[in-house]
Amino acid sequence: LREARIQKTKTVCTYCGVGCSFDIWTKGRKILKVEPQMEAPVNQISTCVKGKFGWDWVNNPERILQPMIRRGDAFEPVTWDEALDTIARRLNEIRQQYGDDSIALISSSKTTNEENYLMQKLARAVLHTNNIDNCSRYCQAPATEAMRRTMGYGGDSGSITDIAKAELVIIVGANTAESHPVLSTRIRRAHKKFGQKLIVADLRKNDLAQRADVHLHPRPGTDLIWLSAVTKHLIDTGRYDKAFVAQRVNGFDEYVKSLAPFTLEYAEKMTGIPREQLERTADMIAAAGSVAICWAMGVTQHKGGTDTSTAICNLLLVTGNIGRPGTGAYPLRGHNNVQGAGDFGCAPAMLPGYERVDDPQVRAKWERAWGVSLPVNPGLDNHQMVDAIHEGKVRAMYLVGEDMAIVDSNANYVQAAFEKLDFFVVQDVFFSKTAQFADVILPAAPSLEKEGTFTNTERRIQRLYRVLDPLGESKPDWEIIQLVANRLGANWNYTSPKEIFEEACGITELMKGATYERLEGYRSLQWPVLPDGTDSPLLYTDGFPLPGGKARLVPVTWTPPVTTPEEFDLHLNNGRLLEHFHEGNLTYRVPGIRQKVPSTFVEVSPELARERGIEDGMLVRLVSPYGAVKMRAVVTDRVSGKELYVPMNSPKDEEAVNLLTSSEADTATHTPAYKEMNVRLEVL
Ligand code: SF4
Repeated sequence: LREARIQKTKTVCTYCGVGCSFDIWTKGRKILKVEPQMEAPVNQISTCVKGKFGWDWVNNPERILQPMIRRGDAFEPVTWDEALDTIARRLNEIRQQYGDDSIALISSSKTTNEENYLMQKLARAVLHTNNIDNCSRYCQAPATEAMRRTMGYGGDSGSITDIAKAELVIIVGANTAESHPVLSTRIRRAHKKFGQKLIVADLRKNDLAQRADVHLHPRPGTDLIWLSAVTKHLIDTGRYDKAFVAQRVNGFDEYVKSLAPFTLEYAEKMTGIPREQLERTADMIAAAGSVAICWAMGVTQHKGGTDTSTAICNLLLVTGNIGRPGTGAYPLRGHNNVQGAGDFGCAPAMLPGYERVDDPQVRAKWERAWGVSLPVNPGLDNHQMVDAIHEGKVRAMYLVGEDMAIVDSNANYVQAAFEKLDFFVVQDVFFSKTAQFADVILPAAPSLEKEGTFTNTERRIQRLYRVLDPLGESKPDWEIIQLVANRLGANWNYTSPKEIFEEACGITELMKGATYERLEGYRSLQWPVLPDGTDSPLLYTDGFPLPGGKARLVPVTWTPPVTTPEEFDLHLNNGRLLEHFHEGNLTYRVPGIRQKVPSTFVEVSPELARERGIEDGMLVRLVSPYGAVKMRAVVTDRVSGKELYVPMNSPKDEEAVNLLTSSEADTATHTPAYKEMNVRLEVL
């Protein structure tokens, strides 16, 4: 046998929305090292622990390597032909019996832009339904909606370099050091070396909160109140950007009226943040020449997630901190391709490029391009799909790359829905909890085994190249989706992701000038991309894509958090860990990482530990109205009082934090209110 050659291949990290790119050195299937390059637009010389060491699972023997079909309680390996025939037959039967909208599709924000494009095309052009969504519904849909309604585009308003350049960075409800590590490194460097000021608003004393000039600790679910009170205080004291507001913003008078309840006194009473801290925050904003605000799930995963995100946008607009270098609105995207999954149309009301399905002109354009007639009404989102399964309206589902049975909120309710499906196709790399409910399982190849593009949190499209061949009979998702479409009667002939990308970008206005040639190697483009290839690192320099070219201040109202009976007396927060990704399916299979953080845990404050007799490492049970989990306690002053924190990643399905969360959701977007849960703690 000839010895395998050492190879170096460029790829893009899949563990968060920062979108670090690097070379992976391999020999055969062995990963030798991960090496960032200076040309990498985001990370240049660094990656975090997951990006550097988190890839060994690609050779894990537990990978799904063949299609499988359920026979009773077991799964039997079958040929691709048999699996595809079964899928086509069952989907056709169910469509005939219950109609097009009895089928729902969920795409993945871990898969490529090309794969997301095909998934929504399969839904709309082949199955004739707009029931298509992706897991950005679980995280940043409220931020996207807030930015769209205030500024026009649903993406970050500038670039990661703008965050590093800002005189003041405000981080709201984001554990940046663990969830977006390389971005956090940039902020830490700017803070330490270049005098950047930092305000962190978070329930937890996370790494950046400990380094911040001001750490605001609001009561759970009250961010909208302090944000609006600080904005009102700035306006009342005349410290807002009058010229910017006069020339570039609509709705100021109505917005000012809506702020009347948000006095500093009210904010202090409701949020628990001392008035002096609120005033200091306002003073720092007024004194800064440029302000960037980053936020994440601590803001969005609430019943009022869209309104709180809107309050952030309003604050930035009133102070003129949009459209200039070092300013802007930065919802930090969680998965590597949360941005791209939406950009390429995996949303129930939007075709690629955020073109609305219920706009007849838009539809006519896509019908011409695809040569089909398209469904007219917006479809169901992920959250609505679960209810629709329980109601018997959705009978079949095709789900790609999402362990929805444990990452959606109120996991027991979601799993009960999956039990009711007449037919369920799951496409994934590992046998997930969700796959246990499937009728057919299709083996997908992960990012290192395919080509394509991802779009990171700053709207930056980057190419990934195939590092390894797909293992066993697994295939890249785009190939599988094409096989399914053709078995259902389509006649697609894509031979590469390049063809898919160029079809998609050729039709959308947003990415007209994006081509694989312009993205070669470490080159990248931030949308909108003009036909000549000019991209847009900083949005809104010349106005807003809204009526009159002006942004819009949108009045907001505070929605009190979900309430629970008194016996559930502790607030449960949840989020990411530095070492692990999402539900944990991948990183818990990396021995070095698992050794460092082998299991999940609940953080308990020293004062609560004293009161309840809890010692570090003790086993406790958390009980909510929806379920119960057991895990060990970690006593730490990162949390305080009656606030607990549990990582969202766990090696065992029965420890998943979403067994505790409810089905309550943001009213505008249906993003689950993961962060609004009270529990009872029992010492075991
Ligand atoms: Fe990957 Fe994010 Fe870490 Fe970069 S910061 S290496 S994208 S997980």
